[in-house]
Amino acid sequence: MSITLDQVTKRYEGSTVVNDVSLEVGEGEFFVLLGPSGSGKSTLLRAIAGLTGVDHGRIALHNQDVTHLSARERGVGLVFQNYALFRHMTVADNIEFALRVRRMRRAERIARRKELLRLVALEGMDDRLPTQLSGGQQQRVAVARALAHKPQVLLLDEPFGALDAKIREELRRTIRQVQRELKITTVLVTHDQEEAFALADRIGVMNLGRLLETGRPDELYARPATRFVATFLGAANLLLARQTPQGIHFGAMPVNARLAERLDGGRSHEVVAVLRPEEIELAPTRDTLKTNYIAQGVVEETIFTGALERMRVRLDHGSTGAQLAATDGNAGASIIEVTRTQHEHRTFPVSLGQAVAIGVRRIHVLPTPLSSYTAWAPDAAAAARLAEHPFLAELAARMKTRIACRPEPALDNPIDSDVQLDNISGVAVIEAHPEAIDRIEWLLHNGAGEVMVLPPLAGAPHRVLIHWADDSARRSTLAVAASLLRHVTAEAVYLGILPQNVSDTQRPMGVRSLLDARSEAQAVHGLDMRTELRFGVAAEELRRQLEDAPEQMLILGISDLDALHEGYGPLFAGATRHAMMVVYRPAGEAAGQQLIGEERLAMSES
Ligand code: ADP
Ligand code: MG
Repeated sequence: MSITLDQVTKRYEGSTVVNDVSLEVGEGEFFVLLGPSGSGKSTLLRAIAGLTGVDHGRIALHNQDVTHLSARERGVGLVFQNYALFRHMTVADNIEFALRVRRMRRAERIARRKELLRLVALEGMDDRLPTQLSGGQQQRVAVARALAHKPQVLLLDEPFGALDAKIREELRRTIRQVQRELKITTVLVTHDQEEAFALADRIGVMNLGRLLETGRPDELYARPATRFVATFLGAANLLLARQTPQGIHFGAMPVNARLAERLDGGRSHEVVAVLRPEEIELAPTRDTLKTNYIAQGVVEETIFTGALERMRVRLDHGSTGAQLAATDGNAGASIIEVTRTQHEHRTFPVSLGQAVAIGVRRIHVLPTPLSSYTAWAPDAAAAARLAEHPFLAELAARMKTRIACRPEPALDNPIDSDVQLDNISGVAVIEAHPEAIDRIEWLLHNGAGEVMVLPPLAGAPHRVLIHWADDSARRSTLAVAASLLRHVTAEAVYLGILPQNVSDTQRPMGVRSLLDARSEAQAVHGLDMRTELRFGVAAEELRRQLEDAPEQMLILGISDLDALHEGYGPLFAGATRHAMMVVYRPAGEAAGQQLIGEERLAMSES
């Protein structure tokens, strides 16, 4: 590996700016770090360069640990957005600067400079001063200068930032050519998705300090694992749907039953479906659609952009039943974006206010187990109040999903209730309560997969503790933890807990299970977490950990309801500050669970 990052963490004034990032960049690879402003890209790049130290983790270049080496000792070439040339020096002197410092002989220096100027297409510009060059040319000089001392890796931070569109494209092409010719391992930072697509062998998407997903541009676009990547890489409509053995349901009718059979885990559950605007078809009526019908709609806006026609279409709920909902929190606004080619536009011209039938060519189901939230309470007022809990509201907004309210009088006395619940969607949220454990158990028993217990004062956590009661809950717990942690800046810690009196021969197994947990989190969910091994009674140990600090949250995985009650009941009775999420998949459902993690591979193609 050319660049290896292992759980790199950087904090500024207590806030985690780069959060447990692990990454391997291969020899000669062009890797693009993509993310919105403030997501930690530059900080991570500076850490690789050695311009800033890290608080945790290791950095290796070509298998040599450089974590504690200075920038100069690391042998990297750097290019920044602001040209950073020496303004009083000629192009030649700028490029040769690093070579003089390294005492290279004059003839060799000149030969190297000529070669570099050829590479960046600036031959003959040797004697110019930076002020006599355009912005694009200055950046070419900066690239040549960064390459002069034959660095092992080239690092570029928004190098096209200040240039206009046409120059950007030319410079982009040059950089790509230079990179191919020299086969130099390159990491480029940008917030521009188009730029990332144009340059990258592989893209890593960052948000809130976390590296969310990495992959080839086409793979990430077609099969994102997270809402953030789905919506950051181009426009995407996120719709809540229900997956059953018959298919993906947006309303009463399943779409593409053939595919869903392959996906089937038996369990009917709510999912988040990604519909790209260009995969949507409009037709005058349902019968004239060539693709899978999903709903009726009304055209609300059309924008002509030259090659494409962009539209916003309001979904008609009546046509599909209550299921259909755009996931963007704002329940009333089920609007989807559609783009059409000139050809499609000519075939079926539409005008504002026109009713249309909506079909879809291709659906991708996100592997996230957290689709939406439902605030459960004994009465409507309490449910509405819970739905406004600041942490819940923030979480739902970040996940671009909705919070539904579900008043259920039986919650007051669940033990004696014979009410059967159906259609439980997403995470069930309840308020903290001395008898919370009974409510949790009742909801899980009735089909909820996750229950979150929310004390009034619980805020966004700085640390999320992850624990599972037994190994069959591992996979689903990790999936939920990974999904949640993408939307908060907290650090993730897995706590393995062994009995106090465990024998010496069993201890290594405990350590082993920590390593397994960590590598599965990383490999299957892209989640980097710390691991800690404790000894004692699990519930007491967890409580002790939680009492350490207020800003923590617990994610607890179980596969057996009796074990929940007996082993962890007291933990929930005293919950006054910490949010706690219980993840439950009966052990028998293990096969179905597996599919949840692998849905990122399976997708609808009609
Ligand atoms: P990006 O390059 O993705 O825009 P940065 O890595 O520059 O993001 O910054 C990430 C976060 O870290 C920002 O919130 C920024 O304010 C903060 N930050 C960066 N450098 C420093 C610093 N030297 N001191 C304090 N905060 C910093
Ligand atoms: Mg930056």
